Amino acid sequence: MDAALTRRIIERLGSAQHPVLLTHLRPDGDAFGSLLGLGHALRDLGTNPKLFVEGGMIDMYRFLPGSDLVQDLPDAMPETDCLVALDTSTRERLGQKTVSWIRPIDIVIDHHISNPGYGSANLIASEIPSTTGVLFKLFESAGWKISPSTATCLFTGLTTDTGSFRYRGTNAETLHIAAKLVEFGADPSEIAKQCYLSISHERHALKRLVSNTLSLKDDKKSAFLTILPEFYSKSGAKSEDTEGIIEEVSSIQGVEVGSLFEFSQDGGLRVSLRSKGRVDVNAIASCFGGGGHKAAAGIRFAKEAEKNRDLVLAAISQAIASLKD
Ligand code: AMP
Ligand code: MN
Ligand code: MN
Repeated sequence: MDAALTRRIIERLGSAQHPVLLTHLRPDGDAFGSLLGLGHALRDLGTNPKLFVEGGMIDMYRFLPGSDLVQDLPDAMPETDCLVALDTSTRERLGQKTVSWIRPIDIVIDHHISNPGYGSANLIASEIPSTTGVLFKLFESAGWKISPSTATCLFTGLTTDTGSFRYRGTNAETLHIAAKLVEFGADPSEIAKQCYLSISHERHALKRLVSNTLSLKDDKKSAFLTILPEFYSKSGAKSEDTEGIIEEVSSIQGVEVGSLFEFSQDGGLRVSLRSKGRVDVNAIASCFGGGGHKAAAGIRFAKEAEKNRDLVLAAISQAIASLKD
């Protein structure tokens, strides 16, 4: 991480009177972990940051300390002298309501390789596998206190974004950061219990419906799942309950790319892509206006869902065909 940039961001955050922190729509563990992790750190410095995400808190991450601080996006732009976007690869992914906020984002802190740097200051460290890891390094260089609450939030983002320290981006530094967070008070087995061993019955019912849609292609090197709108009424699950379902296909032996196509009521399509490492799914997603990381990326289409699903599947086939065995 660039030392001068890090210093500039620390000064900006440390001197803010009314910081407002934002993260991406359809938030995951790293989104909530970085929102609340930075929230706790700033509160420990004596300010009262406001934390917003489209839709507010979700049940799965309610165990995070301070989760009551997270609010749904307000209609009007909140008063602030420091607007921060966390773990969000494009400005649009901050949510529809923020589009009308005619104000630059002051600070972007992220780890998505596809992030164009849409803030006035952009700390984008794609070599670190979670935004909470970037925040940890920032807090360390600032000499800011890392309380057990902060450590719990940061560890949650690190474990969820690395698939419990299994994905490629996990290296010695990741494990050093995790170890230090445990020293600062994060409890790995309690966090794992909350993130991985507390699946609601509705979520499990959705998973069963989705599992039945499994299709294999390209010599079983590509596998995909489908979510239809009626799966939600059948299972009682919510849209947030899709997180992690894609693991079901990307974990199959021999599968290089796993994908999940979620068809929405309004004719739109949400695509999740996962690679075991040989295919760059960020490159595929970028061709369709999406983005993410080499091994995990996503795309959103507003219309022509089936046609776009076929185009994405064709792009995956092409990428797999060009692999040298
Ligand atoms: P997901 O499959 O939704 O878990 O997303 C995988 C990764 O790609 C995450 O890091 C997302 O932030 C990123 N991502 C997902 N959808 C998009 C999109 N439409 N545009 C840019 N990045 C995305
Ligand atoms: Mn995220
Ligand atoms: Mn992330």
